[in-house]
Amino acid sequence: MTVPFIPPRRTLMGPGPSDVPQRVLDAMARPTIGHLDPAFVELMEQIKSMLRMAFRTENSLTFPVSAPGSAGMEMCFVNLVEPGDKVIVCRNGVFGGRMLENVKRTGGVPVIVDDAWGAPVDPNKVREAFAANPDAKVLAFVHAETSTGAQSDAATLAKIAQEHGALTIMDCVTSLGGTPVRLDGWGIDAAYSGSQKCLSCTPGLSPVSFSQRAIDTIQSRRTPVQSWFLDLNLVLGYWQSAGKRTYHHTAPINPMYGLHEALVMLEEEGLENAWARHRAMHETLKAGLEDMGLRYVVDEAARLPQLNSIHVPAGVDEAAVRARLLNEFNLEIGAGLGDMSGKIWRIGLMGHSARQENIDACLHALRACLG
Ligand SMILES: *Cc1c(COP(=O)(O)O)cnc(C)c1O
Repeated sequence: MTVPFIPPRRTLMGPGPSDVPQRVLDAMARPTIGHLDPAFVELMEQIKSMLRMAFRTENSLTFPVSAPGSAGMEMCFVNLVEPGDKVIVCRNGVFGGRMLENVKRTGGVPVIVDDAWGAPVDPNKVREAFAANPDAKVLAFVHAETSTGAQSDAATLAKIAQEHGALTIMDCVTSLGGTPVRLDGWGIDAAYSGSQKCLSCTPGLSPVSFSQRAIDTIQSRRTPVQSWFLDLNLVLGYWQSAGKRTYHHTAPINPMYGLHEALVMLEEEGLENAWARHRAMHETLKAGLEDMGLRYVVDEAARLPQLNSIHVPAGVDEAAVRARLLNEFNLEIGAGLGDMSGKIWRIGLMGHSARQENIDACLHALRACLG
């Protein structure tokens, strides 16, 4: 007979998921209720309101998609991009590449702005792309590139899009709750995030937010959204309608309890205090890593505090080190992706993982492995 699964106890310092606080796990173990129960509808309203706090937005259409961050990404593209629409896509890592893939599959016409992996998106290249393509409808970029640890200047990029009358789609999966995200201050039209990074909930939910301009664009589409599940016109009746909710799909009830608890914890700490904690913990980790002679991949100005990419020292078998960290120290850190595979490590300080005891454990284990 197969016995119940008991997971090992790990310290999660990779690119996500991050450590989930016991409070969030306890919340998820509360009794399941129906998804149209008035008590659940009240929980949905509270989640929407706390997500507006986290996104720094007044957008009424702000809610968690019942699926991981990749589904939030896809929801933005399938709703805002119609066949033939021109989209300027910035690609400076894995996730910009996935945005491009979304543009292609929605029948959009991509205009690619490439930057080196590890560098932020260059606003001048985006200006040039708009100058050459004044008819571009959307600008899409990743705020915090988890594959490299680089943060782009979202305020400047969004402003360029506005100057050209284009909509902005922003990936803030890794930034939300970790570094400043200001949807309204920057004028972002569509944003998506994930529950398992700096919000420190379990994976599987994707907070999204859409401006009125984005909603107007979606409601005046020439063609139906090709994805039934992600069609916002249909999802709206479930998450948004004032009185009666209509069945669209069954929301994952218990994970919603977890997200609610994670957001309550963020409210208790204060969003700006959470940003400051990520920054302070990054400084502490950086001092320890540099003390060991390890070097960062990303220039200081564009470095994400919650995702520390470092070069693997010459002659070190990076996979063997990660295996030892996991097996001997129960510590998970991330490997490099794509071109950076085998060359870098990615150490996450996301959400509940951004605390002193994790940094101490990580530095101690790395010292033991690197000698
Ligand atoms: C993790 C991540 C995603 C995808 O989220 P999933 O929950 O894994 O689907 C998208 N974009 C960025 C920048 C990410 O870090």
